Amino acid sequence: MKQAGDFKRTLVTTALPYANGPVHIGHLAGVYVPADIYVRYLRLKKEDVVLIGGSDEHGVPITLKAKNEGVTPQDVVDKFHGIIKDSFEKFGISFDVYSRTTSKTHYETASEFFKTLYDKGEFIEKESEQYYDEEAKQFLADRYITGTCPHCKSEGAYGDQCESCGTSLNATDLVNPRSVVSGSKPVIRTTKHWYLPLDKHEPFLKEWILDGHKEWKSNVYGQCKSWIDLGLQPRAVSRDLDWGVPVPVEGADGKVLYVWFDAPIGYISATKELTPEWEKYWKDEETRMLHFIGKDNIVFHCIVFPSMLKAEGSYILPENVPANEFLNLEGDKISTSRNWAVWLHEYLIDFKDKQDVLRYTLTANAPETKDNDFTWKDFQARNNNELVAILGNFVNRAIVLTHKYYDGLVPAQGELTDYDKETLNEIPVLVKKVEDALDHFKFREAVKEAINLARLGNKYLADTEPWKLIKTDAERVKTIMNIALQITANVSILIEPFLPFTAKKMQSMLNLDGLTWEACGNLDFLAAGHQVNKPELLFEKIEDETIQAQLDKLQQTKEDNEAANKTAAPAKANIEFDDFVKMDIRVGTILEAEKVAKTKKLLQLKVDTGIDQRTVVSGIAEFFKPEDIIGKQVSILVNLAPRKIRGIESQGMILMAEDATGKLEFVAPANAVKEGSEIR
Ligand SMILES: [Zn+2]
Repeated sequence: MKQAGDFKRTLVTTALPYANGPVHIGHLAGVYVPADIYVRYLRLKKEDVVLIGGSDEHGVPITLKAKNEGVTPQDVVDKFHGIIKDSFEKFGISFDVYSRTTSKTHYETASEFFKTLYDKGEFIEKESEQYYDEEAKQFLADRYITGTCPHCKSEGAYGDQCESCGTSLNATDLVNPRSVVSGSKPVIRTTKHWYLPLDKHEPFLKEWILDGHKEWKSNVYGQCKSWIDLGLQPRAVSRDLDWGVPVPVEGADGKVLYVWFDAPIGYISATKELTPEWEKYWKDEETRMLHFIGKDNIVFHCIVFPSMLKAEGSYILPENVPANEFLNLEGDKISTSRNWAVWLHEYLIDFKDKQDVLRYTLTANAPETKDNDFTWKDFQARNNNELVAILGNFVNRAIVLTHKYYDGLVPAQGELTDYDKETLNEIPVLVKKVEDALDHFKFREAVKEAINLARLGNKYLADTEPWKLIKTDAERVKTIMNIALQITANVSILIEPFLPFTAKKMQSMLNLDGLTWEACGNLDFLAAGHQVNKPELLFEKIEDETIQAQLDKLQQTKEDNEAANKTAAPAKANIEFDDFVKMDIRVGTILEAEKVAKTKKLLQLKVDTGIDQRTVVSGIAEFFKPEDIIGKQVSILVNLAPRKIRGIESQGMILMAEDATGKLEFVAPANAVKEGSEIR
């Protein structure tokens, strides 16, 4: 097996986020932060490395979203590609190129790739029966068909899965199928598609992964093994759809490349956009290719894409696929459709300039070997107890004291004590630990060891107490502060892959730049007399209120979801028409409104009913301010027997609609009508 050092260069790809929504902490923790850490580390080591990313912009969910919103699929992907790209940039994910699968280069590259396999006879052609919408004149992809689940009988199951009971389905299993496009009943028609015969590649996959890559993470290796053991089946590479890369052969009108086939080719297209020398990254055996992905993508990156590359013949295969498990949020699965997520674009507003705090928390708690949970309390604790109390505190003391005692000029080192030597000897040990962990994609361990260097510095200052010693042994303090500053410089390099914004601030305080990984362990970064800049704040304490606001936001999401899922109450028993007409309901206008003293819910209203002006007490004060509802038209039951509420005689009742959360809305005519008009 080749070692990392046997390669001339490294190509790092990151899973393409799907451009039908913004990105959240799960994306960051699973793929982009670890990939960015790794690439920054290699760059610091002056290795040839490129970080490739882009948005996945094809597939049925995007076309459905466009249809629901009355816009084009291109509008949908333009919007989210912009939001996603911006979030990554602001979090310091240092892509060399961040492209998209609707780019011209990608269309050409994906077509050409298909064409090559087609010409080499690497596909099989098969006819199959599929639902067709005669009204909309199109074949229906699975997500375009809905009906009753044959297992749990719930409505609204899709052609590929019932979301109520989770069973995966074939479109033809659905009871009472309906087209999502036109609502009509679809008919079965025959259609032709091309398939990649994965079964044919099975012997190669067995040898390459099961025998050749035993060093892969156990979650990745295990998943590959169980797929291969189950036996691989041919997989369709085309679909009947009008959004995607058209299948570039004759007789393929109305067919596009299946999104899983075109998306990974996006890595190649993006590299082409980055450099005319793209082939050296994709076709040279001396390139080490790494795919950073989440566990839901393992089969595509370890089995399907390598089979495609192998079939094409001129490409290299991935050397490793360090996939992560999933990150949950406050004990619940992150979900875009349920809005159960911490969205990056929202975090950037709520926690301005605190990108490193999130990067740190997500790394320290990364779902490397099992699913893991993000909690706001843990986020707060890691910020306050680790970043503020250890890293921030150490660096701040070193810089502040240097200014206080020496006007920011680095003091000269005198003779070292045994304790000094012991402390300094620890530095290369920690550097080695960080390296070992990073070389094996163990990012949690790596960041822990990097912070341990700051911990060492903190302990050194706490043990030597220069702030006391300055009064009795000023000469000794010079050596202590010199050592503290050399440790600070080392910390700034070690944390750069994890906390790039902080590292930059530290190096600007130290008035140093261009530090490389090779320099780690040096004890002479700062010569005596070197000017250190003024201290800046690296981290600040996050208060309980800030965390509570985030927890409240999630609680609100939970309630909104419950309300949205709540079904309407069943109808009451039938009544006769005569009973209904006993109720005299009129259109009225609110003339006056004021709060009823010492109550939370009650407003006293004066309403023009067309018949008279009367007083009504209404329990709507939690939802409406008196000044906002004056002049509003309402429906009022005018023949309800008057009754006293809090000493006020209420003559009638204002009709309100109440939603599942208990929120009230007025029931009023859609356009203004004359007061006294009857409602029936
Ligand atoms: Zn079901």
